[in-house]
Amino acid sequence: MQAFDDPIYVTRPSLPPLADFVSGLQQIWDSRWLTNDGPLVRQLEDRLAAAQGVAGALAFCNGTLALQIGLQALNLSGSVITTPFTFVATSHALFWNKLQPIFSDIDPTNFNLDPARIEEKITPWTTAILAVHVFGEPCDHEALADIASRHNLKLIYDAAHAFGVRTRGQSIAQLGDMSMFSFHATKVFHTFEGGMLAFSDPALQRRLGHLRNFGFESEVEVVMPGTNAKMNEVQALMGLLMLDRMDSMIGSQACIAQRYRQCLQDIPGIVCSLPAPGTEGNHGYFSIRVTGDFGCSRDDLYESLKKFNVFTRRYFYPLVCDHSCYRAVTVHDPLPVARRVTTEVLALPMYPELSLDDVQRICEIIRHIHDGKTDNGKRDG
Ligand SMILES: *Cc1c(COP(=O)(O)O)cnc(C)c1O
Repeated sequence: MQAFDDPIYVTRPSLPPLADFVSGLQQIWDSRWLTNDGPLVRQLEDRLAAAQGVAGALAFCNGTLALQIGLQALNLSGSVITTPFTFVATSHALFWNKLQPIFSDIDPTNFNLDPARIEEKITPWTTAILAVHVFGEPCDHEALADIASRHNLKLIYDAAHAFGVRTRGQSIAQLGDMSMFSFHATKVFHTFEGGMLAFSDPALQRRLGHLRNFGFESEVEVVMPGTNAKMNEVQALMGLLMLDRMDSMIGSQACIAQRYRQCLQDIPGIVCSLPAPGTEGNHGYFSIRVTGDFGCSRDDLYESLKKFNVFTRRYFYPLVCDHSCYRAVTVHDPLPVARRVTTEVLALPMYPELSLDDVQRICEIIRHIHDGKTDNGKRDG
């Protein structure tokens, strides 16, 4: 089995044709409007709000600051129930708002917060649930919204992975009190760096706008100590050009996901995640679980793949609560599912330009590694 000549990474940012970007830059040069709620940012926000079917869509310089500001705008206090199986920025945004994360276990099928584990953790100090649509798979929104409404909690989604996802005919951005999307270069849709908050309560629009821009209400009036989290015009230009490419990118990624499923289906110990019925995904990630039957651990597979020039990612490992900076946070839930899943999950290469032949070869390499680790393979030579 031959290694790839050039490394295959887990993701690779997509780009519009350079000529289109340059002609957009010319407009920015001509106008000299570089940032501060410029025309391209407004155009991007309008298009995003329309595409997502939400009342409000505000653009930010990145997703992490968007989430921090979103939590602040909701005036939360005390503790917030969240998932340990996510990127660290989810909990960091709580920390920056002086909110205590309460880590709760996940569902083994979609890796999202398990609604059945939440209510036992609600105390008089709990003010919100911060859930994550991991790998773009929708959370069990009905169950989460039911818990939130019965206990008078806000429901916020870290939808960093879920741009463009629809569930049961509805845009995922319409769920909950607020959703954060990341437009980082490694995400399905990007603006180099960037982010968005989507929300349905129009009253939030002004407050979020203030928090994003130093609290300025007018030239001479500052109404709250806001920060600087503005998106600039070059970011917005990239976003507008990328929006035009979304459908074809998602289409390519859907084909790649389908090919992975075909080629991996009969390898023992490799479990491909399946989208829930009624989900129109963005196929931004293709994750597998490496279980006992495979013949070696997920970590061994991850290391072995590197020798073939295939660089996968152990998303998310370790769990957020196991990072040294969260060691002081008491975790009451033993988190059995998250602890198992974090040792089993591997994200395979996924980006629109990845060829189906390369997908097939990655799968053959995985099969080769499996055969080398099991008696079956040894017998067959
Ligand atoms: C990428 C990501 C973020 C952070 O977004 P940035 O735009 O990089 O700040 C937050 N949460 C999750 C789950 C992410 O994957």
